[in-house]
Amino acid sequence: MRATRASAPNILLVTLDTTRADHLGAYGYPLARTPTLDLLAREGVLFERALTSAPITLPAHASLLTGAYPFAHGVRNNGTFSLRDDAATLATVLHEHGYRTAAFVSAFVLDRRYGLARGFDVYDDRMPLERSGDQTGSRAIEWLRSVAAAAAKGPPFLLWLHLYDPHDPYTPPERFRDAFPDRPYDGEIAFADDVIGSVLSQVGQLGLESNTIVAVVGDHGESLGEHGESTHAVFVYESTLRVPMILRWPGHVPAGRRVMTPVRGIDLAPTLLELAAAPPLPAAQGASLVSVMRGADAKDARPIYAESYFPLLYMNWAPLRSMQEARWKFIEAPAPELYDLASDSNERVNLFERMPARAADLRRALDQLTGGSAGTMAERRLDRDAAAKLAALGYVSAALPQTPTQSDITRPDPKRMIDVFNTIRTANAALQQGRWDEAADMARHALERDPRNAFAMLVRANANRERGRYRDALDGYRAYLEIVPMSADAHHRMAICHARLGNVEGALKETDAALAIDSRFADAHDLRGGLLAERGQTDEAVRALRTAVDIDPENAAYRIGLARVLTSGRRLDEADDQLRRALQLQPENPDGHAGLGGLLAARGRADAAVEEFERSLRIRPDADDVRLDLARALEAAGRAADARREFERLASAAETPQDIRAAARARLLRRP
Ligand SMILES: [Zn+2]
Repeated sequence: MRATRASAPNILLVTLDTTRADHLGAYGYPLARTPTLDLLAREGVLFERALTSAPITLPAHASLLTGAYPFAHGVRNNGTFSLRDDAATLATVLHEHGYRTAAFVSAFVLDRRYGLARGFDVYDDRMPLERSGDQTGSRAIEWLRSVAAAAAKGPPFLLWLHLYDPHDPYTPPERFRDAFPDRPYDGEIAFADDVIGSVLSQVGQLGLESNTIVAVVGDHGESLGEHGESTHAVFVYESTLRVPMILRWPGHVPAGRRVMTPVRGIDLAPTLLELAAAPPLPAAQGASLVSVMRGADAKDARPIYAESYFPLLYMNWAPLRSMQEARWKFIEAPAPELYDLASDSNERVNLFERMPARAADLRRALDQLTGGSAGTMAERRLDRDAAAKLAALGYVSAALPQTPTQSDITRPDPKRMIDVFNTIRTANAALQQGRWDEAADMARHALERDPRNAFAMLVRANANRERGRYRDALDGYRAYLEIVPMSADAHHRMAICHARLGNVEGALKETDAALAIDSRFADAHDLRGGLLAERGQTDEAVRALRTAVDIDPENAAYRIGLARVLTSGRRLDEADDQLRRALQLQPENPDGHAGLGGLLAARGRADAAVEEFERSLRIRPDADDVRLDLARALEAAGRAADARREFERLASAAETPQDIRAAARARLLRRP
């Protein structure tokens, strides 16, 4: 079936990361500066109580796009799950229906590898870790302009824009930082609102406003300290489940209506498909809100489910699941909870003991909905690159291969462990920011409370490695591997420790262990190649380094490492090829220029070598090994005085590594 009718609406879907509904002006927050969203609410429908199905970016977005709960689509966490290839989404259905489709996302957690890209003609996810909303917005605007002419008379479009700015750390751009000196989180939301404003004004300028449905929805909220949680992901309280949801389509949905009936994120895709007269999602658990928006009274309250498997998957604690019917909310946990949201919207008074029958009803409803099991687990292997990027974004990198079981309920209760979680999060942040002592200290504190916490073990071992305590780090990785035996990463880090301790054999054993677990682990191949070269096994080293390059051809460092070994093996043409490609990838890579200098020196082209070494030193002046190479090249080029000056500089500077200083002194002594 094709949507050839020119009247079929365009759909602009904006997902706001980490945005609490009660921090928008439209939801009654007096301190907000959200004029765009407030205007959308006046011109469209605002859902007073919209709830996400998981307080975690990837599962929440998978639910928004599939109209299904996480236990059905199987995406239960960031990083280690991806949406199955056969899952229908808003994008696959609309694409099939003739829509042009494009997505512009702002964080690596929504990278195409996690399965949300299917159905999109364009899936713009190229960024280091995250990008600010104005960058994503301007990419979306470019795309809008490129399709605008056709959209007026040709196929309609689905444009999904994801804005990550309100996610912590809260660092709004200057003009929003200055406007919100004490409330940077609100500043981020104001910034996101501003970005939406510029996209909408483009929609207006292109004359598309009247035939474009604008849907804005949050993926989850933010605790901001409530219940002891600073951000999101652990708990399933309203602070992270309740999100903004606003829908505008002039003339088709009522203007200024505020829907009080609680609704779910999974209802949005069915709603949009009905409005677009497109086929429904076959596996949707959500239901269209079209009649609710138009004022029909919802007779029966929709059951509202939410979950977080984050505590189990990352911390080895009990997962949390909640079920809400009308004013009552039940949370399944080792110590179960029951709240009356009508009188206690902040979920402070646990009524579980006082109202056992009510709790039992909701527990039964929960079991009925989920089929009494944890549901589908669409796990994927966490690749290295992903683990590192997720850790840098503040996500813990210790993904435990946990299988949920009925005994989950005997694991530690997240609400009793939240301080441990906060400590580990702070420790991980310290680790990412290079404060090793602090990271190690805090991880130790966490381990005192929760001795078998794998993530805390990993943070402590990494901090010890970073601050040069290699033997402590090795002990830490060994303990970690007892709990997470299949961690190729831990073996790789052990190899680094052994190498720093000068134990090449031990290091090689660990790289082999890492590669036995994950044969596509490029860093481990790269390290193994370097170790083999150190042992003089050049051919084997070249093979290992080539494997790293083959796995990740865009990585300049791998090519430079390979070129060094090729140069020392006198395979100069091959080295040349690798270096040129590395410098195409990263023209200002100091190692690339140093490597090229080494190659030119090996070819006897001393003058050209001098130039490359100098260029490398301009980029990174404190590289004494390169300065030693430069001094030697100057000497070979017949520039004795220049060479002497460099040797003297190396021989006298206290911070020069000892071996380099000794080499420089020896050279000076041999001079006439
Ligand atoms: Zn998120």
